[in-house]
Amino acid sequence: MDKFLTVEQLFQLFDSTSKMLQEELDCTYLEALAESGENLFHGDVIQDELSEITKKRLAKQYAEINLDKYSREDIRKGYQLAILKGMQENVQPNHQMTPDSMGMFIGYLVGKLTKGQPSFSLLDPAVGTGNLLFTVINSLPDKKIQSYGSDVDEVLVKLSYIGANLMEHSVQFFNQDSLEPLFVDPVDIVVSDLPIGYYPNDIRANEYEIRAEEGHTFAHHLFIEQSVNHLKPGGYGVFLIPNNLFESSQSPLLHEYIKHHAYIQGIVQLPNSMFKSEAAAKSILIIQKKSIEVTQPKNALLVQLPKLSNQEAMTGILAKIDHWFVEEK
Ligand code: SAM
Repeated sequence: MDKFLTVEQLFQLFDSTSKMLQEELDCTYLEALAESGENLFHGDVIQDELSEITKKRLAKQYAEINLDKYSREDIRKGYQLAILKGMQENVQPNHQMTPDSMGMFIGYLVGKLTKGQPSFSLLDPAVGTGNLLFTVINSLPDKKIQSYGSDVDEVLVKLSYIGANLMEHSVQFFNQDSLEPLFVDPVDIVVSDLPIGYYPNDIRANEYEIRAEEGHTFAHHLFIEQSVNHLKPGGYGVFLIPNNLFESSQSPLLHEYIKHHAYIQGIVQLPNSMFKSEAAAKSILIIQKKSIEVTQPKNALLVQLPKLSNQEAMTGILAKIDHWFVEEK
């Protein structure tokens, strides 16, 4: 079947059933989408409060779709389109899902960092809708990945765990402030599209080395420290960061922290064209937690990705990245 049609079909199912559920349950589109995903997964309409006629109409729509016929990527994309539609209603910029282009590139880097390892463990402490996590997992179908995701937003975590069920991925989810103690054993890789801004809980921030002496500490700095806390020695953190991460008033604290606990492996600057404005543009930071067995790379990988449409330039940059991995890893 045509790939586009397949994804469109799934989106239409999520969209029309979510609209029905939203109207009758008087909830947001995203909450209704989570209910719809749950129904699709269970092969049943599980909301007792619905009228019989709505239950029948919903059941008829779910019966027309056989999930086994769809690839994990088709499911992710169809579900993602519906989430994007729901996010247009009322989602804060900081809670936006990570676009595919970034997720796929991060998946490519994680593949390089775990080369030769048939299995590894993976944590996203700001998992949101799960789109980044699933894009990474789906891009590495030959690896056995034990994954963990945590997020403070209840609706997003619900969307995430339902996404994992629909794609049949084994992921353990936590709905909590990820800067509070997180009950996850150290993992091989942390990936995260870091929430940017101040962390309001100064008492908790005081537990971190990276805390600011005065006022609130940046949440994205605390997330980096929390991620390092949850990495095995020698494990890697791959983070989407604001371009000015190392230029803020609190950046000396971040520098100091990283110097003691990790090695910067590289920074990949993403093209401005991927973002709404230059100020919103991001990079990917790759760090490795220190261990007696690892040493600092001779040269950090410092590259700027061209526009994805510029295939020739992209091929050149990917060759440069491949070369860096051959030399350093
Ligand atoms: N990668 C995610 C995706 O694809 O949907 C998007 C991540 S979004 C840029 C940042 C996420 O951080 C949001 O989902 C937000 O709820 C979460 N967040 C912000 N502060 C948090 C905290 N203290 N603990 C846990 N999650 C937090």
